[in-house]
Amino acid sequence: MVNNEDFESAIRNLLLATTNQDKIAEITELLHGLNWRIMGLRELTDALPSVEETGTTYVENALIKAEYYYARTGFITLADDSGLEVAALGGRPGVFSARYGGEGLNSSEQIAKLLEELKDVPEEGRAARFVCCIAIIGPGLKQTFEGYADGSIAFRPDGTGGFGYDPIFIDVDLGRTFAQLTRNEKAARSHRGKALREARRFLEQLS
Ligand code: IMP
Repeated sequence: MVNNEDFESAIRNLLLATTNQDKIAEITELLHGLNWRIMGLRELTDALPSVEETGTTYVENALIKAEYYYARTGFITLADDSGLEVAALGGRPGVFSARYGGEGLNSSEQIAKLLEELKDVPEEGRAARFVCCIAIIGPGLKQTFEGYADGSIAFRPDGTGGFGYDPIFIDVDLGRTFAQLTRNEKAARSHRGKALREARRFLEQLS
């Protein structure tokens, strides 16, 4: 027999260090069924000021975010830092993907700017990849996991799923944009899905 107290103590809390609702949705789905209660920053009783992402790599930025929220809340914290790397642009926008084109642009404006930058680049020169780094920080815990997704940049947006640059990122094997994939298809193939499946195995061993 498991009484309520035992059951409660068997469940651990995991704080997701992001306010990006699309990321929260993808991460929550990929961690579904784990013996962990997943919380977003909005569930904290005291709102915390956000932390500046001053790193020059995904790993640095993911660690900055996870360490910051763990230090202030005491909850084991998972942070995601990700970006889109376009070969013809020397890997830009990369770690600066969220701020590409300047603060305040929405995803459609960023996509329009990227397509404009690539307007003279032929199909064979449009290779790109998504990168994701997941960091988990807790008492005596410091782990990072990386995932990559290969593809190319479309000439025009297509599809309505996903978020960010998904409408112009064509999956290398499926030939469809990430925004045209079902949620399960994107989870199976994406940079975030790959990094999170490893993070999930790690969390399973902890619980
Ligand atoms: P950050 O990790 O919050 O610094 O931002 C990463 C940025 O990369 C997001 O704002 C998106 O623009 C882009 N990005 C990351 N992952 C994805 C994805 O799965 N689909 C589309 N865009 C993404």
